[in-house]
Amino acid sequence: MKTIYLDNNATTAVRPEVLEKMLPFFCERYGNPSSIHSFGGGVAAEIEEARRHCAEMLGVKFRDRDGLASEIIFTSCGTESDNTAINAALKARPGRNKIVTSIVEHPAILHYCEELERRGVEIVKVPVDGRGRLDMDFLKKSVDERTALVTLMWANNETGTIFPIAEAVRIAHAAGALCHSDAVQAAGKELIDADGIDIDFLSVSGHKLHAPKGVGILFARRTIPLTPFIWGGHQERMRRGGTENVASIIGLGEACRLATIEREAVQKKLAALRDRLERGITEQIPCIRINGDIENRLCNTSSVSFEYIEGESILMLLDMNNICASSGSACTTGSLEPSHVLRAMDIPYTAAHGTIRFSLSAANTEEEIDFTIKCLVPAIERLRQISPYWKGEK
Ligand code: PLP
Repeated sequence: MKTIYLDNNATTAVRPEVLEKMLPFFCERYGNPSSIHSFGGGVAAEIEEARRHCAEMLGVKFRDRDGLASEIIFTSCGTESDNTAINAALKARPGRNKIVTSIVEHPAILHYCEELERRGVEIVKVPVDGRGRLDMDFLKKSVDERTALVTLMWANNETGTIFPIAEAVRIAHAAGALCHSDAVQAAGKELIDADGIDIDFLSVSGHKLHAPKGVGILFARRTIPLTPFIWGGHQERMRRGGTENVASIIGLGEACRLATIEREAVQKKLAALRDRLERGITEQIPCIRINGDIENRLCNTSSVSFEYIEGESILMLLDMNNICASSGSACTTGSLEPSHVLRAMDIPYTAAHGTIRFSLSAANTEEEIDFTIKCLVPAIERLRQISPYWKGEK
């Protein structure tokens, strides 16, 4: 039975065009880009081409005197990009010891902030409302002359809710602070104009946009001194040590090139698929809620709460039909507690527990969506029959 993959916010398939671009860089063009000989030097030129495609996707126009998109730094993942940006901001704003972030960030931000808090950095987490929207008054009041960095995700990985990043940049800059956005879920799906909004740092992860795992981007504005997170050789202009992950960087460049060309068409297709899924669920299953900012969210993400049942049981029944999705619980911690995002949104307990995240890609079809709805209807009914909390349709 074919797998129906609706978990693209967890990771995506490498696109065949991306893989094709990568393949020569394993066994044929395996030179080290730092080598003087042309066998390696030719590879360095290909990396620069990839860097240009990444810059274009992010709306970064600056080229240095050698014509390179030098504000783009290749990293190992979104997590490394996030950590590097936070560190760099604290170094670039000496005397300021405060970071303002949100309560719903990914652990790549939150856990590093918690570690920094243990080391004496003041961390302020801005709350969200029931739709996952940022409390802008709280943000404005929190950012002051002690703030080194405002770091906010572009779009939430669980609900798809999009934050007003351009406004956050203005608030940060007005107080002399820097601004970073974890754009891991937004990149390739949303229009990003780093120059237009004058943001200082952006993080991107390859494996969320059909490039391989193990490669990411940090955009860092040239006017800000960037302290490396990983020290080593002179790679990435001394801003990130370690021999480049060449094939993956080439793949990421191609994935960004394709995302730039296809974004608008893909956005339309994904929104239509997502709406078809939500329509089918809403029409055929009682007592559900769609979470997040419905008017302002990622085109591919649907967070649905099926009340009075456990998300994990739903996932198991979907898995029996080869359908992959994910739940809104912090199951990585071994508990079935609702995730920090759902808790921050104050989703009622009975709904938070039965929350499923469907995240689509352009490879999904209407037939897959219809089949998913067809499987969900009896699965939810069956689980509710055995749920001690289910007292029939309300
Ligand atoms: N930020 C967000 C919003 C994410 O969704 C993820 C991954 O799920 C990350 C950061 C971490 O990215 P990576 O897996 O490349 O480290």
